[in-house]
Amino acid sequence: MTIKAYGAHAGDRPLEPLDITRRAPGPHDVQIAIAYCGVCHSDIHQVRSEWAGTRYPCVPGHEIVGRVAAVGAQVAGFAPGDLVGVGCIVDSCRHCADCGAGLENYCDHMVGTYNGPTPDAPGHTLGGYAQQIVVHERYVLRIRHPAAQLAAVAPLLCAGITTYSPLRHWKVGPGHRVGVVGIGGLGHMGIKLARAMGAHVVAFTTSPSKREAARALGAHEVVVSRQPEEMAAHAQSLDFILNTVAAPHDLDAFFALLTRDGTMTLVGAPATPHPSPQVFGLIMKRRSLAGSMIGGIPETQEMLDFCAQHGIVADVEMIRAEQINEAYERMLKGDVHYRFVIDSASLAA
Ligand code: NAP
Ligand code: ZN
Ligand code: ZN
Repeated sequence: MTIKAYGAHAGDRPLEPLDITRRAPGPHDVQIAIAYCGVCHSDIHQVRSEWAGTRYPCVPGHEIVGRVAAVGAQVAGFAPGDLVGVGCIVDSCRHCADCGAGLENYCDHMVGTYNGPTPDAPGHTLGGYAQQIVVHERYVLRIRHPAAQLAAVAPLLCAGITTYSPLRHWKVGPGHRVGVVGIGGLGHMGIKLARAMGAHVVAFTTSPSKREAARALGAHEVVVSRQPEEMAAHAQSLDFILNTVAAPHDLDAFFALLTRDGTMTLVGAPATPHPSPQVFGLIMKRRSLAGSMIGGIPETQEMLDFCAQHGIVADVEMIRAEQINEAYERMLKGDVHYRFVIDSASLAA
């Protein structure tokens, strides 16, 4: 089937309308009519080949929501009309220890929703800036939010799980003091989720204009990280820091805010390295620096259900597909409140 999509032919070219093909659903496939797709900063890194290895044409998008259009003969768990989502993963080896543990995100053969290897044309996966997608049922998520919230659910498929998974892994909850650094797509979800898990949440932003909004998102305190005196007021006070910043910056300034035995986990994935750390910031208080990548399929379903129960969705700004290049420029300036979501209906025009 040929459908309309938006993508780029090279890393230095803007995104433009493309016609792409999807495979006919196999016995275990779910064909999804995409309603909305969130715009992740990873889309910018990859479509511009900032992480190297991008294959073209590149159709980004891994925060996909929509309705099931058709299912293969063996699919039992989904039926046409169901509200579903697809995140960053569309395949994995299904038999390694990581897949067995439901941590497909750490499988050595994980296939990303775009730019991953596939026998389908053109030889690499094409993502959610498109009208339809066909995905094996194992990697399809069920959405239990009201249908009216569907657009605001889309960002949970990457921004939601990427922040939920480390907050759970490092056991954030009541009595914890948690810092969330960078208030963009990931960071704003980190604030909402850490708050819902019962932590005391301190948001760190480079944008003074986001101070009030961060409180509205659920932060108990907001710090403008470029103000040294504001940073100093939080020295040695945080048990855990979730760092979502998409650009290289001084990590040492944040180690100083951790308690003894505190951990800072990086989820932001800048194209070039951070200028730090100096080891003493870690050694002196037995602090840890860690990383985390999205989350597995079972935990993604757990996160979606947690959000449905707690009434959590993203704060979104809806765009038409042809506004995507402008949206990227705004994201690079930190001007995002707090996730752009493409209305897939605009692709038909
Ligand atoms: P985003 O919406 O663009 O937000 C990033 C935020 O970082 C900005 O809004 C800004 O917040 C802050 N920031 C501070 N200095 C910046 C600078 N010089 N340039 C850009 N941002 C700066 O991005 P996102 O979608 O949340 O993604 C954040 C990062 O996480 C990206 O690198 C992305 O590739 C990565 N990511 C990783 C995973 C994973 O599995 N680990 C998953 C998804 C995304 P303030 O205005 O508040 O300072
Ligand atoms: Zn993402
Ligand atoms: Zn595997």
